[in-house]
Amino acid sequence: VDELAEIATREMGRPIGQSKGLVGNAVDYIDYYAGMTDKVEGETLPVGPSEQAFTRKEPIGVSAQIVPWNAPVLLCLRGVAPALAAGNAVVVKPSPFAPGVILKLAEIATEAGLPDGLFNVVSGEVETGEALTTDPRIDQLTFTGSVSTGQIVAKAAIDQVIPSVLELGGKSPAVVFEDADLEAAVDGALKAMTFINGQVCFATTRVFVHEDVYEEFTQRYVDAVESLDLGAGMENPDLGPVVTAEALENIDSYVQSALADGATALTGGRPAERAGNFYEPTIIEGAADDAQISCEEVFGPVINLYSFSEESEVIRRANDTEFGLYATVWTNTLDRAHRVANGIESGSVMVNQYAGSHPQTPFGGYKKSGLGREKGMQAVDHYTQLKTINVDIGSTDAE
Ligand code: NAD
Repeated sequence: VDELAEIATREMGRPIGQSKGLVGNAVDYIDYYAGMTDKVEGETLPVGPSEQAFTRKEPIGVSAQIVPWNAPVLLCLRGVAPALAAGNAVVVKPSPFAPGVILKLAEIATEAGLPDGLFNVVSGEVETGEALTTDPRIDQLTFTGSVSTGQIVAKAAIDQVIPSVLELGGKSPAVVFEDADLEAAVDGALKAMTFINGQVCFATTRVFVHEDVYEEFTQRYVDAVESLDLGAGMENPDLGPVVTAEALENIDSYVQSALADGATALTGGRPAERAGNFYEPTIIEGAADDAQISCEEVFGPVINLYSFSEESEVIRRANDTEFGLYATVWTNTLDRAHRVANGIESGSVMVNQYAGSHPQTPFGGYKKSGLGREKGMQAVDHYTQLKTINVDIGSTDAE
């Protein structure tokens, strides 16, 4: 854990404490799917007395997996573990911003005794990704990354008529009702800001707060954000640098465009005045629901606050996005928690917690956030193909 965490932190700037936690979580996928190796089961099908029909889940072959840089070990093992458990070989292409940690992981797998050829890593940039996704020797594609690249990868899969799983972006809402535990809700919004600097597919980026508690929530949230410290990843600050200078520019251009349109930065709102790719943690108030900053992934420590008054209104506004990966509801009213969780168009909904994540719980997107579900038992279906076998068994001679 320490070795992988340090490589990841040095590659992409994430605070070392977060890196250790994430590598630890990644190991859970190995444990979980290791237990599945002898449970990839088919079914018997009741087709009548003279036939025996059943299904077998067979390995699909070679799985090509493309992973991003933000949580490289976890996102790699999230796909690799079920693929190996189901009997496949895997070729992983890491992001050019975090290849070293995945290469190290492959080295560890070899050292641990995984037979050669089962877990392969090919590092490189876009051309490497294209070469992998168009190679006729692959049988399945798992992609985690942006919507635009996911669309290219999905087209490559269609051209080869092979299945693909797409885990794409998000613009996740959090809904804070007037009866919520405000301390817990503020803490959730703070985690969304600090966890990998908001560079997370499921990061809460739109916080809708009931008008009765909007002022109190906002004050507490601003105070909490202003106490965050920025620093180099290895110093384990609350917030590290963002991944590249281009990412820093991109984050700032979203913020400046929102400010130019009349929104306000309650705190932050600019790159930090220090060397490195640091952005001040930023809370934006007053952006319209259809402003660019409310609709697109900023992928940085920037969160928008909105006030609402009605439950039906907030469900509609939370759903008014092309994404649907993740959402959070904060309330102490049981029936409302369930109604809102049901009403939100999203692959995962958390109630009174943020970032609850386990290998057991399926994860994936509604709408443009993706196709298919990773994690849980369902993931094995991506890495197997179903064969039906019918055997004519005749009938027992009555005499
Ligand atoms: P990206 O789409 O730029 O790159 C992802 C990977 O695809 C990289 O390895 C890249 O080299 C490769 N790639 C680029 N062009 C390719 C092509 N034409 N063919 C094949 N491969 C190609 O994404 P990123 O910037 O690395 O990651 C950030 C994005 O990932 C965000 O949109 C984020 O929301 C998303 N993400 C999603 C999840 C999830 O589980 N849903 C998890 C983490 C990140």
